[in-house]
Amino acid sequence: MDVEAGIAAPGLQGIKGLLIDINGVLYVANKPLMGANQAITALKRSGLPYRFATNNTTRSVQTLSHDLTAMGLSVEPQDIISAPYAAVIYLRQLGQPTIYPLLSADAQQDFAEFTQSETAADVVVLGDMGYEWDYRVLNRAFRLVMQGAQLLALHKGKFWQWEAGLQLDIGAFVAGLEYATDQTARVVGKPSPFFFELALTELGLPPGQVAMIGDDIEADVAGAQQSGMKGVLVKTGKYRPTLVATTGITPDLLLEDVGAIAQWFQ
Ligand SMILES: [Mg+2]
Repeated sequence: MDVEAGIAAPGLQGIKGLLIDINGVLYVANKPLMGANQAITALKRSGLPYRFATNNTTRSVQTLSHDLTAMGLSVEPQDIISAPYAAVIYLRQLGQPTIYPLLSADAQQDFAEFTQSETAADVVVLGDMGYEWDYRVLNRAFRLVMQGAQLLALHKGKFWQWEAGLQLDIGAFVAGLEYATDQTARVVGKPSPFFFELALTELGLPPGQVAMIGDDIEADVAGAQQSGMKGVLVKTGKYRPTLVATTGITPDLLLEDVGAIAQWFQ
């Protein structure tokens, strides 16, 4: 295809690079979604710059790539920008702070370069601990922030889609700690400008030439739009028409599933 001309899709003229969400767009509950494989194949053939942009906080970039490949979705680690990856970049910019990680053991692999402490940390890194969340852990985080530690949230998502339906996400824990400490968390995942600026730097494109494709109307669509990009919503994953309507956010384009993008590159 003609890379200079960009993609051919209604409402997306001049778009020359793509950010694609992973969970709810490429797969749900360890099963690939309709069209995901065709979309990845078409992207790779297109020659356009792209990255997979995810707020997944339970897996390291290496494990994400491994799990996607096991589902038949060929996604390389270097093509993934995750919220933990954004946090690592942010922490490096602070110097070499000591962290208290509220993260799954797997996601902690991305943070191996930082010293850890439960009692004297500079930064509390709030990700997802699944069933490990309990009062002891939250109280430790609370005490550290009250002693002056910064609260760094990988994201502030409200809910996500699993086989059994919508699941509570970590935003409730972030909001709870903010309330108790009277501090505001620094958010580095979607929809933060930090995340999207990092992604744009990696794509090497200005925001006006990039579209974000996701199933989260706030983190993906509104986040991208607020950073000057186009926001494309897919009707898979956590997409619920009634929940979208209450946000008042209008996507630049609505797709049945991610497979629709395969037609953009012909
Ligand atoms: Mg998603």
